[in-house]
Amino acid sequence: MTLDFVVDKLEASDSLDGVVITDHTFAIYFPPDVAWARAYMSDSSVFDAHKDFGAERLESYLASIEALRGKGPRVGLETEIMCDGRFTFDPAYRERLDVLIGSVHFLPFEVNAGKLEIFDMWRKNTSELINSGIDVLGHPFRFIANHIAVSEEVIADVVDEAVSAGVALELNSHCEVDADSMMLRKLAEKGGKLAFSTDAHRRDEFGVFTHHEKKMSAAGTTMADFKIFPEPSLMWEVSRGESSKQPVSIGGSL
Ligand SMILES: [Zn+2]
Repeated sequence: MTLDFVVDKLEASDSLDGVVITDHTFAIYFPPDVAWARAYMSDSSVFDAHKDFGAERLESYLASIEALRGKGPRVGLETEIMCDGRFTFDPAYRERLDVLIGSVHFLPFEVNAGKLEIFDMWRKNTSELINSGIDVLGHPFRFIANHIAVSEEVIADVVDEAVSAGVALELNSHCEVDADSMMLRKLAEKGGKLAFSTDAHRRDEFGVFTHHEKKMSAAGTTMADFKIFPEPSLMWEVSRGESSKQPVSIGGSL
């Protein structure tokens, strides 16, 4: 995926109001071997050791998207929170972001950790993310659903916390997560904020919303049940007429 590709697709589309590019902060701040070893989640000195390396790369990432202002793409990031409560990017850059997504990707539990221990660690990290100043909680139940069956009560609890904090919940099409249907129902009951994300890592995933439509319909919800985030009229400098309003955020690396 390249920025030129995104700009061309946006210009050619009559259904997209805009796009937010949200690369992973861990892919920016660390060389690949460090990023995927994930030690920084429990040992934040790894992050501090790469702060200058990351800042230089982040500056270049931000500048490349900022240079396109007026052409549609907006700048975002997807971050984690390390076990010391800090983001995996320098918060001095927060004000340059149109959208900040916070997600749980990895947690440093022991191999023999019990389900309760994994749940507690995930719930604490999720709560820290929700209350950290992020705009969107990314794929809220993907991580925990890979380890434990997620109950209606847990989904309701996370939805309530996000609504109270004014944080949008992301409906992400990269992986099938059964809990997303209940998340949509609970969020609709509260009239909370919902963000549509394709999490597009490949060109053919860009702007494809079939998964979202299927999930919305299975949950018995419609766009009118939510506050859609980001609100196109607030976000986009480029008006794309009165056609359907479907902002999209993209994860992955350009
Ligand atoms: Zn993610």
